[in-house]
Amino acid sequence: IKRDPNQPEFLQAVKEVLSSLWPFVQQNPRYAQQALLERLCEPERVVQFRVSWQDDKGQTHVNRAFRIQHSNAIGPFKGGMRFHPSVNLSILKFLAFEQTFKNALTTLPMGGGKGGSDFDPKGKSDNEVMRFCQALMTELYRHIGPDTDVPAGDIGVGAREVGFMNGMMKKLSNNTGTVFTGRGLTYGGSLIRPEATGYGTVYFAQAMLQHAGNSMEGKTVSVSGSGNVAQYAIEKAMEFGAKVVTASDSNGTVYDANGFTKEKLLALMDLKNEKRGRMSEFAQQFGLEYIDGKTPWHIPVDIALPCATQNELNEDDAKTLVKNGVICVAEGANMPSTLEAVDVFLANEQVLYAPGKASNAGGVAVSGLEMAQGAQRLYWSSQEVDAKLLNIMTDIHSNCVAYGSKDGKGRVNYVNGANIAGFVKVADAMLAQGVC
Ligand code: NDP
Repeated sequence: IKRDPNQPEFLQAVKEVLSSLWPFVQQNPRYAQQALLERLCEPERVVQFRVSWQDDKGQTHVNRAFRIQHSNAIGPFKGGMRFHPSVNLSILKFLAFEQTFKNALTTLPMGGGKGGSDFDPKGKSDNEVMRFCQALMTELYRHIGPDTDVPAGDIGVGAREVGFMNGMMKKLSNNTGTVFTGRGLTYGGSLIRPEATGYGTVYFAQAMLQHAGNSMEGKTVSVSGSGNVAQYAIEKAMEFGAKVVTASDSNGTVYDANGFTKEKLLALMDLKNEKRGRMSEFAQQFGLEYIDGKTPWHIPVDIALPCATQNELNEDDAKTLVKNGVICVAEGANMPSTLEAVDVFLANEQVLYAPGKASNAGGVAVSGLEMAQGAQRLYWSSQEVDAKLLNIMTDIHSNCVAYGSKDGKGRVNYVNGANIAGFVKVADAMLAQGVC
């Protein structure tokens, strides 16, 4: 707190993790050595740089960009790039910190990192986005590489932006190694990577429900967001027999009492990914209720999947969800629930709550599989990748059960489970490699 008094999101993430780890470390003195916790709270390296670029009218703009290389104890730094006006050091440090534990949970050899810029792609032409991405890469390229640091997408960085950055990386480095994941299929991408975070979140929710003798079949689900993670969470939840009744963006929520259909989901994907439109237009297109300026959490559902952004679900929202009978909350976004909201979920026996670092790890897991395919110059079929994704999510669930319930049988605290399981892997690797 003394070092980073003005980084609330970073402090929030650290507090959440340390509240699980502190009792564990006290009981397991092996992990009290070599200032492991202190080292894990300090990124290995932070790079901040200026990005100057010109818009279509020839006017020059200046944005700020960062890359946080948090930990490479178990493999190259790995984590997405975010383009959003809210991006700052605190948000990227929280994301890189979380990413370190999440990547360890996937069982694949990936360290933790994150990056991004306060550039806003909304309302920019494709050429403007390309010029910005190229300008950003003229600095970022010297800090990343297939065995050093492998970025990917995140909020505001989808296939288009990854393509532009990857193209410039190749040009500047004269090397086609896997330096970005989330690439298009024509230049080294993996099948199922776009679907992976949303599918994985639903696989995790299903695993929690099945462990508790229940399932998604016939349940009502609210989803927030309408971007990459939300779209595929909706698709997989529908496939598992659930009724999805909401989607949202930063302006408001669409409520569909009858539930999404395949046709509506395809229209949503087209609107968001191709036309870059708003949820208010989607509501209009299908004559659905649009709740301006509101998140979906006041709507009664069995399962809630927050898939938009950090701190989008507060204590009051959590109380409302619980009052309305929610039985499962699985985070597709990173840290969407505030600390107070998490406390509400954990205090209620009826709620199965999965923190993002466990439930949304499917995206980075398939990024790891993309790196493996790239290194072998091979492509795996969607069935193969999806089966591996399901296995990884099931293993993460089992690891959370092992570390999050005392006897491996009773009620599972998935927050403790995810934090401790992720920590043990990173900490063991740090201990083996000495103080560095
Ligand atoms: P997208 O940019 O594709 O979509 C983001 C969605 O969230 C949009 O609907 C956006 O609405 C909404 N949103 C963004 N900021 C806010 C805000 N301040 N308030 C309300 N809504 C907001 O991003 P992704 O779907 O990729 O990412 C969503 C979340 O999932 C993030 O937390 C990300 O870190 C996390 N995540 C993503 C992974 C991935 O593979 N993509 C992997 C693991 C986690 P609008 O259009 O109005 O901005």
